[in-house]
Amino acid sequence: MPLSPAYLQSRNILSTPLTEVRGVGPRLAEKLSKSGRSTVEDILYSLPIRYEDRRHLRTIAHLQTGSHEVFSGEILAAGEAVTSRARKKIYEIIVGDGSGQILLKWFRFRRNWMKQRFKVGQQVVVVGEIKRFGAIREVHHPEVEIVPVGQSLEAYMEDHPSLFGRVLPVYPLTEGLTQKMARKIGRQVVDTFAEYVCSPIPEEIYRKHDLLPLQEALIQSHWPVVPDGESVRTVVGPARSSLVFDEFFYLELGLALKRKGTVLEEGIAFNVRHKYTRPLADMLPYRLTAAQRRVLGEIKADMMAPRPMNRLIQGDVGSGKTMVALMAALVAIENEAQVAVVAPTEILAEQHFLQFRDYLGKLGLRTALLTGATPASERKALLGDIKTGAVNLVVGTHAVLQSDIEFRHLGLGIIDEQHRFGVVQRSTLRQKGSRPDTLVMTATPIPRTLALTLYGDLAVSVIDEMPPGRTPVQTRVLTETQRSRAYHFIDRQISEGRQAYIVYPLVEETEKSDLKAATEGAELLREIFSDARLEVLHGRMKPDEKERIMAAFKDREIDILVSTTVIEVGIDVPNASVMMIEHAERFGLSQLHQLRGRVGRGAAKSYCLLVRGVRCSSDAQKRLDVMIETSDGFRIAEADLEIRGPGDFLGTRQAGLPDFRIADLLRDGRILELARQEAFALAQKEGFPTQPRFDDLSQELKERWGGRLELAGVG
Ligand code: ADP
Ligand code: MG
Repeated sequence: MPLSPAYLQSRNILSTPLTEVRGVGPRLAEKLSKSGRSTVEDILYSLPIRYEDRRHLRTIAHLQTGSHEVFSGEILAAGEAVTSRARKKIYEIIVGDGSGQILLKWFRFRRNWMKQRFKVGQQVVVVGEIKRFGAIREVHHPEVEIVPVGQSLEAYMEDHPSLFGRVLPVYPLTEGLTQKMARKIGRQVVDTFAEYVCSPIPEEIYRKHDLLPLQEALIQSHWPVVPDGESVRTVVGPARSSLVFDEFFYLELGLALKRKGTVLEEGIAFNVRHKYTRPLADMLPYRLTAAQRRVLGEIKADMMAPRPMNRLIQGDVGSGKTMVALMAALVAIENEAQVAVVAPTEILAEQHFLQFRDYLGKLGLRTALLTGATPASERKALLGDIKTGAVNLVVGTHAVLQSDIEFRHLGLGIIDEQHRFGVVQRSTLRQKGSRPDTLVMTATPIPRTLALTLYGDLAVSVIDEMPPGRTPVQTRVLTETQRSRAYHFIDRQISEGRQAYIVYPLVEETEKSDLKAATEGAELLREIFSDARLEVLHGRMKPDEKERIMAAFKDREIDILVSTTVIEVGIDVPNASVMMIEHAERFGLSQLHQLRGRVGRGAAKSYCLLVRGVRCSSDAQKRLDVMIETSDGFRIAEADLEIRGPGDFLGTRQAGLPDFRIADLLRDGRILELARQEAFALAQKEGFPTQPRFDDLSQELKERWGGRLELAGVG
């Protein structure tokens, strides 16, 4: 079935160039295009930032300080004045209506124009925010309409129905555009085109949730008709929500289809045989927490089902994700399948390797490490052993994803710290087996609304419980001049048998500057801590050197580990009790949280000392405040999102989602969940999306995702 006529017309209307809109000349079109608006659609989706209630005029006596008001009156006096303090010229007009008087003020004006325009005795209508300075009420730079001589106020207002007696939109202004022009274009476009816009989303969905049809929502968002006695919000609120729903619906429908695509594939159905998992559980010096067991249960259920697993484990730093992953790995290995574990840094890959090799070795299984630093000859031998299946589990960096690495039978791919990777790596890993299960883990706790969006095609398990015996980390912010206090403190901790991290910021792990910062810092620290055993760890070291230092730190042969952020993720040394971070203002919130998570892992009380440099922006200060306030990863992530805004939080790597013109991931979480439910339900419908009755919807879905949705069956 071809696209429906109504839908086709709607698409045509939306893509109409603004140059074809009556009243928009070439110069105006040029101005609009500078702010990215060239079609009817662009105007319809540029919503007002607020509204001005011009339904009723108030008497001057009843104007409310602080609010935007509309009132009328007579000009009682007008003229230039000079401010007493700055001796700057201002223009002032006094307006009165019998009930009272108010002062209008302009701080920038053209004198002749003002003189010509305003005359004592004129009737005017004034719009603006009412301010009060002592007994005097003022409006600065108001909008003023002049009632022509001989016309009554009532007649004038009736002549200008678009200006008075209703609620007016206030548009964000871009260069060269006045509010009057913006309103005129908005009005023109909405009046001429909006009613022809239609949405292919099934009507019953709108009805079920009291949402307005698309065209209605657009009209009411721009030119709301608000009944007497009701607030503006009661009308524009639902209109905006409807548009937000619309945007989220296509987002979630796309994600639902992606998920459906993977769910429908055949995958490996594993059996849980307990051959290795039980011995491992017996070997552990602790019992898994209830949360770990629950998540492991969810993973096992996925692995036993005959479709590929796509699961995200979310768990705060230190919640014990690694052990859950290792258990899952053993389930695959029990079924004669191989496992690949990908970590974002060499240090972390190495640490996982040491731990996994230890446990797997005791079970008679073979673990291999593969990173960019693996020597060519060793790599060649390893590749052979991976291909024959002699290696059961490969841990590494993205080097594991390289195209010449072939598995005999890859059954499970695990990606640690998923936030460091994009969606691409996940699918590369998947292609190394015949639809292996995938498990991704992240310690960057993502607010639920965002998780749904980012990982909409993944099932999510949350480890929401910490292993017992964790102590909250006490956090302090120090200025540079207080640094010596931190050193004294560290000294005392060391004498009590504890260990400390001192972290320096860096630009890029591979850049020379990090080396310099950390090594120069270390030289100084060696003098200060002359009795302590101190080593430096940085990204440019050889792997075996890094491994040696990490192992030595773990074995308590090193007291102070001076490091760049290479230790950010995953490092696990329970005896370390101090994390000192230099130039803490340069770190992001999730980095700080990760770093702090390196301590507080043992029974001893732990401390995080954040040294703040002199140049600390207000955002940076906010981040440090958050660190002091809370250690809850979810709260930190939410704060991070607030400080940075969703775009930045998602990062460029997460591009691949449709853009939002109206919706706000942060504020509209409730609508997102609603849209998700409806979209996922629709995606489950028989014949979706291939049946002709879904053609309009599929087409719109493709438009919204702009080529970023690669789907068989939608085309
Ligand atoms: P993350 O979730 O940050 O990756 P890890 O897996 O590194 O956390 O675990 C942090 C520490 O907690 C490790 O030392 C690990 O051995 C320990 N651990 C994991 N599970 C438990 C448990 N159930 N009881 C006690 N300690 C645990
Ligand atoms: Mg980890």
